[in-house]
Amino acid sequence: MKQCIWCNRKEHDTSFKTLAHTFPRSIGGKKICKNVCDECNFAFGRKQQFQPSVDIAVKEIFNISKNIISTNPKQFQKNRFKSEYFKIDVEKRKITLKPKYKLKSNFQETFARSFRRGIYKIFLEERERIIGDALSDEFNFIREFSRYNLNDIPLYYLKPVMPLIFTNEEHLNNPELQFSTYNMNLHEEYRLFDFYYAGYSYLLHTNNFMKDFHIYNYNINVINKETNSMKLSKIVAINRMEDLDFRYQLFNQK
Ligand SMILES: [Zn+2]
Repeated sequence: MKQCIWCNRKEHDTSFKTLAHTFPRSIGGKKICKNVCDECNFAFGRKQQFQPSVDIAVKEIFNISKNIISTNPKQFQKNRFKSEYFKIDVEKRKITLKPKYKLKSNFQETFARSFRRGIYKIFLEERERIIGDALSDEFNFIREFSRYNLNDIPLYYLKPVMPLIFTNEEHLNNPELQFSTYNMNLHEEYRLFDFYYAGYSYLLHTNNFMKDFHIYNYNINVINKETNSMKLSKIVAINRMEDLDFRYQLFNQK
């Protein structure tokens, strides 16, 4: 029997007719989490006053980053999707907020919050799809944040030393998470999970306890080790949308 990983309800209490795409369909996401009820699936698409929905925030950022990494500016122009919130200057490779949103106080922060909720949503739905243990109490903190907009969970990206971009068309157009030995070890040691998508390596917490402690240790033991194989320079917390704009900053360093 199906049970919703977000609200815990089973088939006799709610319906499961719609398909819950773990990654947004608009970027090519094809993976489906079966244990998401219609009401919860719908809730992620619902806009709250001046706060973009969880789905829209992820869709916008993933579409933008997907377009950025197409190195050919003509391709960039061709693939360009219509962003509701951002003005994209192809020539200068620059993103700015559209004027009407600039005026809204805290818009950058509320957008980033929806985006964080969306990344944790993807994590839990993919975890359910692949491992099937998302209902564990350990993940209640993600349910509270992603589904019910309560509390907060930090989300980071791992800034690379060099703007090396790894492109794998298949992964770009049909993304999925990997629960590999590497990621299981990361969970064991630091209670963290990371994944790469379209130029960004995201870092998530997989447990609600001692988050600062785990990030601190990861920073000391992995990032600050000169031998870190991934050539990472820094952990950056995503608190405003500008924090995510690193790819452009790197391009603009020339
Ligand atoms: Zn539900």
